[in-house]
Amino acid sequence: MELMSDTGWAEQPATVEAPLTGGVDCDVVVIGGGGGGMTAALRLAEAGADVVLLEAKTLGSGATSRNAGYITNSIAADPELLGFLLRRERLRNLYRFAENAVHFAEHAIAGHHIDCGYRREGIVMAAVSNGQLRHARRIAKVMARAGSSAEFVEGAAAGLPEGFLGGVREKVGGTLNPGEFALGLRAATIAAGVRVHEFTSARDVTDTGDGVTVDTPSGMVKARKALLTTNADSNGLSIAPKHLASPVWTSLVETERIAPERLDEIGWTSRAPLVTLHMILESYRLTPWNTIVFGTRRLQTGRNPLPDRMPARTIADDLVRGFHQRFPGLRDVKARQAWGGWIGMSSSWLPVAGEASDNVLYSLACNGHGFAQAQYVGRLLADHVGGAPLHEDLAAIWQGRRRFRRGFVSSPALYAGWLADRASDRLAALTN
Ligand SMILES: Cc1cc2nc3c(=O)[nH]c(=O)nc-3n(C[C@H](O)[C@H](O)[C@H](O)COP(=O)(O)OP(=O)(O)OC[C@H]3O[C@@H](n4cnc5c(N)ncnc54)[C@H](O)[C@@H]3O)c2cc1C
Repeated sequence: MELMSDTGWAEQPATVEAPLTGGVDCDVVVIGGGGGGMTAALRLAEAGADVVLLEAKTLGSGATSRNAGYITNSIAADPELLGFLLRRERLRNLYRFAENAVHFAEHAIAGHHIDCGYRREGIVMAAVSNGQLRHARRIAKVMARAGSSAEFVEGAAAGLPEGFLGGVREKVGGTLNPGEFALGLRAATIAAGVRVHEFTSARDVTDTGDGVTVDTPSGMVKARKALLTTNADSNGLSIAPKHLASPVWTSLVETERIAPERLDEIGWTSRAPLVTLHMILESYRLTPWNTIVFGTRRLQTGRNPLPDRMPARTIADDLVRGFHQRFPGLRDVKARQAWGGWIGMSSSWLPVAGEASDNVLYSLACNGHGFAQAQYVGRLLADHVGGAPLHEDLAAIWQGRRRFRRGFVSSPALYAGWLADRASDRLAALTN
């Protein structure tokens, strides 16, 4: 298995937009060119604003091009726990936000004519033990009460692979190739007239009262407003709220090609993309070229500034072990390559957006489920900075000037989560 530092989904862009040199003025500077930053910059440019987009590497090279490719209306916490902790109205607002984010991402694919193999097939939060199956029944009820389009399904009836007993089927969303999507959105952003500077890291952002200055290694931007869409790197900028994002490294593995009839033999007739209901999820999805991409299971923490990295061999091997246990009928299938990326976890594990200062707004909609949500928040933030009142979906995650507590993501906690999941797997093997 090859361990890669770039995404396994697509090639890198053929050309690079010039880094910033010297001083420039603009209406709005967007810092961080992932799906969130590109969408915000594009929206502002379409509305006639003069926009500068600064990206430390190339547009989309962060989590946006590296993820598992699920467009999902999940919000990154256990729905049952959320049902317990949050008022019903707040939960309804969050699920409305998340579902609208899915539709927004679908419109972006269609609107920018991005050829990224999107399949609107829904996603199954699948149970691999009787305990998880009971959990799934409860989750389906919480999600239905919160207005989310999800339903409980039985494993065989839903065409899930052997060993997947049933689960909650999200009726919206599906899968795509995030690498191709990122390239498509990058092209659309550049074509919209956004002044893009790649390999330009914002080192310092200052709110001067009547605007903002952004310091980069070879230049300076002056703007009326700034948007921070820097995901896992957010804490690297001192103007960002303290403890905004805890960086977590997530790994993915792709198999060699598998003959489609073998998927029928193991009962995966629906081909539905799957995520398990473990404490730290496992995801399994097919690609249009008949491989399986799977991931997560073990997460690792990091500190800003975050290094470029590849998955640890032990973690990739653990993922492969998990794949072979979960799909005994595919035990001979080999892993071909592995890559990963950094996600930023907010302290509540929910998407957030707010004001770092009078002229600097931020968003953090990652938390491992934010592919569509980061883009949607980017669009809503752009409208807000352009003068629109707070949209009800932005209000659902709006924090204003709130400060954050230190998150409870730590290496021992993540390792304990992995241990607990393996213990529950062992118990399930004895009792299922
Ligand atoms: C392995 C993996 C699997 C995932 N699977 C899924 C999934 O299946 N479904 C899902 O919904 N979500 C998934 N996610 C999460 C999802 O990818 C993210 O929520 C989403 O892409 C975040 O978009 P973003 O624009 O906020 O961040 P990013 O795409 O990370 O973009 C942030 C950008 O900011 C740049 N930047 C940072 N600091 C600076 C600075 N100081 N100056 C200039 N530029 C800067 C970075 O270089 C980066 O390009 C996954 C993530 C990973 C890593």
